[in-house]
Amino acid sequence: METITRFAPSPTGLLHLGHAYCAWKNRQQGELFRLRLEDIDSTRCTPAFAAAALYDLHWLGLRWDGEVRVQSAHLAEYQTALSGLSSRGLLYPCFCSRREIAEAQAAPHGATPVYPGTCRHLHPDARAGRINAGHAYALRLDTAAASAITGALKFFEADSGWVAARPETFGDIVLARRDIPTSYHLCVVHDDAAQGVTHILRGEDLRPATHVQVLLQALLGLPTPKYAHHPLLRNAAGQRLTKRDGAESLRALRESGVKPSVLLERFARMEAA
Ligand code: GLU
Repeated sequence: METITRFAPSPTGLLHLGHAYCAWKNRQQGELFRLRLEDIDSTRCTPAFAAAALYDLHWLGLRWDGEVRVQSAHLAEYQTALSGLSSRGLLYPCFCSRREIAEAQAAPHGATPVYPGTCRHLHPDARAGRINAGHAYALRLDTAAASAITGALKFFEADSGWVAARPETFGDIVLARRDIPTSYHLCVVHDDAAQGVTHILRGEDLRPATHVQVLLQALLGLPTPKYAHHPLLRNAAGQRLTKRDGAESLRALRESGVKPSVLLERFARMEAA
């Protein structure tokens, strides 16, 4: 089977060296290399950052195969997937605010609190009443009900081998919000399948997300690709690079006279080490 990889940045800032490394590795490993812009969060993504990402990849000489998939152009597809889950009784409206959720379950420092399930068993009349009164809500996946349908799941990860999926450690994840009518997890599984991705190679920070994404793939009847995660690049002070860390952006490197070949050779040396 042909190896199809992808690079899927969110245009919420300028790409940095870590993105370049991820894109380069995917280009190296993919017989076909797909590009996707994950721009569903219209409150944070901008067309200027999207254009800058394409420019940076071009500058690096990393050419992708086929069209760029732009998530904001596919909202109707995500809606269809959500409606399917909803008609199977797997979604419920959650009226809690972020603060209420955080307070209901004190989280270990730095971790995202797991939703305690406050709205999972609201009476249908109470739900309808709140919706009719115009209360804002998010749609959550009933993870336990979903797992009961799929049964135990596993996925293959390059470092770990076969891993048992543990979506329950995430609780009932949000699949749609009022301001963003879909979610990262839903779009990523839908689009990886739509783009025929066979191998997902992404930063270590996304390793935990695999557990819920595998559950969504099973629910939506989508194939589960093979996974691999690479270490995150760090700055001279040892901190992870972030999009806010403008000094390490590809644009800043380019403007300071760095040549793409120097970066790509550095990546190749990192692989060899
Ligand atoms: N859009 C995500 C990001 O920029 C990457 C998603 C993924 O690789 O699954 O961090």
